[in-house]
Amino acid sequence: MYQAAEDRYEKMDYKRCGRSGVKLPRVSLGLWQNFGLEKPIEDQEAILCRAFDLGVTHFDLANNYGFPAPGKAEENFGEILRRGLGTYRDEMIISTKAGYDMWPGPYGNWGSRKYLMASLDQSLKRMGLEYVDIFYHHRPDPETPLEETMGTLGDIVRQGKALYVGLSNYSKQEAEKAVLMLKDMGVHCLIEQPRYNMFERTPEDGLFKAMWEHGVGCICYSPLAQGALTDKYLNGIPQGSRASRVGTTINDRYLSEEKLDQIRRLNEIAVSRNQSLAQMALAWVLREKAVTSVLIGASSVRQLENSVQCLDHLEFSADELKAIDEILK
Ligand code: NDP
Repeated sequence: MYQAAEDRYEKMDYKRCGRSGVKLPRVSLGLWQNFGLEKPIEDQEAILCRAFDLGVTHFDLANNYGFPAPGKAEENFGEILRRGLGTYRDEMIISTKAGYDMWPGPYGNWGSRKYLMASLDQSLKRMGLEYVDIFYHHRPDPETPLEETMGTLGDIVRQGKALYVGLSNYSKQEAEKAVLMLKDMGVHCLIEQPRYNMFERTPEDGLFKAMWEHGVGCICYSPLAQGALTDKYLNGIPQGSRASRVGTTINDRYLSEEKLDQIRRLNEIAVSRNQSLAQMALAWVLREKAVTSVLIGASSVRQLENSVQCLDHLEFSADELKAIDEILK
């Protein structure tokens, strides 16, 4: 039976999530990939338990995570909780989401009350939980009135099925509207989850500032550009890596010749800082004051350990930041 490391809170830093009572670890772990049928449950358990031992108290899921079957990651996570990790439920922040295609027909996608309520009930069942800590609307729905979606998030909090709510992939304008609407209902939006990494800096165009001013925390996903911002692709595509698998988006998004050249030059800066490129890329995301946490993925315990060590060196000199901006221009 899993016994958590006694020193688990000595290594991690925690930051308050916007203007709320909750602190998140600076590094959080997501279960989008690697927690379906890609590897045995024992390997998944090893990653999750090691994360918890390192002070990673936040685990991020969604209804559709898990290869090859949407929902598999929640199922496996529930199984791993039952095998022992769940003893520490009150020391964890567990999130899930709904907003993408989950089941056939008109009620299994987007942002209707019908879909969100049913999806959260299914997620709770798969994980064997009575409540999640954070429930997100996974992406804006251009057709459903925002009042309906936000009203549902508010009701979910009142029902106690989620302690807090969040938004993901909302633009600055959409997020501000939603945050204010929730506020009118007496519900504070805890957190926004945008994609943010050295290659994708859209949140710098106002989202970070707006969320900071509204007291909403930000947790950034794909901070390593799905693994591109590490040293793993410097000499080709290794067997078993995300880029070697079919149906992934990393190649088109992040591994063009131009980007690989940038990655090589960024790696030189990381080496001069005595860090891995992964660690530098995570520290770079965490330099933004609006960012509460980086939301990483990991396909092994070693990767997880390597990434968490970014906390050993978070500071950047003005010259380093300038050199990074030059490369990314
Ligand atoms: P990352 O950018 O952190 O990429 C993770 C991948 O990078 C790993 O699976 C591994 O890939 C590689 N990697 C990780 N650490 C290292 C390391 N230290 N050295 C070398 N390679 C490393 O994040 P993800 O794109 O996986 O997203 C993280 C989480 O964000 C998801 O699990 C999910 O919770 C959330 N997310 C949310 C979305 C949303 O719409 N809200 C969308 C996407 C993600 P490999 O398999 O090649 O080893």
